[in-house]
Amino acid sequence: MSDTKVGIFLDADGVLWPDIGAGGILEGLAEARRRLRSLTQTLERRENVFIGVVSNQTLAARAVIPFEDFRLEVFSTFQSLLEDSLIDDFRVCFHHPSANYLPLRIDNCSCRKPSPGMIIDLIRSHALQPSHSLILGDRISDILAARNADLNEAILLLGPRMLEANISMQSKHLGSLIQFRIARDFSEFLEILKWWIKNDK
Ligand SMILES: [Zn+2]
Repeated sequence: MSDTKVGIFLDADGVLWPDIGAGGILEGLAEARRRLRSLTQTLERRENVFIGVVSNQTLAARAVIPFEDFRLEVFSTFQSLLEDSLIDDFRVCFHHPSANYLPLRIDNCSCRKPSPGMIIDLIRSHALQPSHSLILGDRISDILAARNADLNEAILLLGPRMLEANISMQSKHLGSLIQFRIARDFSEFLEILKWWIKNDK
């Protein structure tokens, strides 16, 4: 193991809490705490690991909720996880190419996954190495963001967005792009994570 911290990047909707649509974050804090506690308890040395969240949040772009209100909700959710050391940092993209709320309508922002901007920003801010980093996501865009940021590994968490029928086809395609594994639930992700950390050089 090198001196650099291992980087664990987590998607939010569908990973920290069930994916109930774009507003999941407003209800998700308690579940995020449960899952992140089980993650941090899995780690032998929490201090050697960086845990970052990278999240596309489109509720304000859809004009469902005023942007300032939503931004405060999102930041207070992640801030509270930060204060408990359940995560180490987070980045959020509020943009959408067809946003109803025009200030958030941006066609090619560098942050919205599958663009790698949020991951790269965290890697730079915390002096991490992509080759010692992985992502857990529940969408192809998470996996592609990891590929675009040159992460070592991507883990796809199965959920309603990713039906079994799609998996063999998708994994064949993705497998040629990035080291790629499938976790059937969060605890299977933790098993893969333990193995991956042990084998990370
Ligand atoms: Zn963005």
